[in-house]
Amino acid sequence: MNKYAGAHVSASGGVFNAPLNAKEIGAKAFALFTKNQRQWKAKPLDAETIDKFKQNLEEAGIKPQHVLPHDSYLINLGHPEEEKRQKSLDAFIDEVQRCEQLGLDRLNFHPGSHLKKISEEVCLDRIAESMNKTLEETEGVTLVIENTAGQGSNLGYKFEHLAYLIDKSIDKNRVGVCIDTCHMFTAGYDIRTREAYDKTWQEFDEIVGFEYLKGMHINDSKPDLGSRVDRHHSLGKGKIGLDAFRFIMNDPRMDDIPLVLETIDDTIWDQEIALLYSMVET
Ligand SMILES: [Zn+2]
Ligand SMILES: [Zn+2]
Repeated sequence: MNKYAGAHVSASGGVFNAPLNAKEIGAKAFALFTKNQRQWKAKPLDAETIDKFKQNLEEAGIKPQHVLPHDSYLINLGHPEEEKRQKSLDAFIDEVQRCEQLGLDRLNFHPGSHLKKISEEVCLDRIAESMNKTLEETEGVTLVIENTAGQGSNLGYKFEHLAYLIDKSIDKNRVGVCIDTCHMFTAGYDIRTREAYDKTWQEFDEIVGFEYLKGMHINDSKPDLGSRVDRHHSLGKGKIGLDAFRFIMNDPRMDDIPLVLETIDDTIWDQEIALLYSMVET
């Protein structure tokens, strides 16, 4: 069994609390914000905080490659206005450096939004340029692009968007993708039946490639297939249903990557993690 499931846990009180919060719910992987996700500025991580994080990670028995930090919601690497794009880029580089400091090897981010002011392609080019500047100024951290539901003017709702950004990247060893099952489903990719699941992932493999899959967000969905609305639900309570998650837990293509719950009721994350592991048929 080579599955690493967990949840996006709280880092309140300090990033070093996240591994302990993960351990408490039986997680073998987790996501966290390394700073307040709703603020631009954060004070730098000090040596004591970094040491404590690494110690607690070891104590929780979780490997750095099974931690998938998430960047701030404020960042828009494809912002149509140059000044705001630059502000996002600076904040993004800071986020990557925080991951470096914590000994983590990947950062999950949403590609960006055109805000109906520029075309999808121009926006994707701006995102690619922002990613490349970040790759030039940092090292050791893979930029993990998350697929989106395509709500509003958010890009990343098509596998082609992810492939486009990878294609433009100056360092393909340091780009990857995170597939969120809720976003995938509401963007129009069905995974509810064996047949639909196989077809969707075949399409993913042809357009993006499994070698780029560096993590997943495991969420059920409140809205319907193709609704392009981003509302997560607890596993088995939404429109996706449990079969899709059973397929994932038994699919070797999702081995050894963080599988992270972002479901709406954090009081049942321990049960949801146990449920996922109970689905493994080996
Ligand atoms: Zn996200
Ligand atoms: Zn997500």
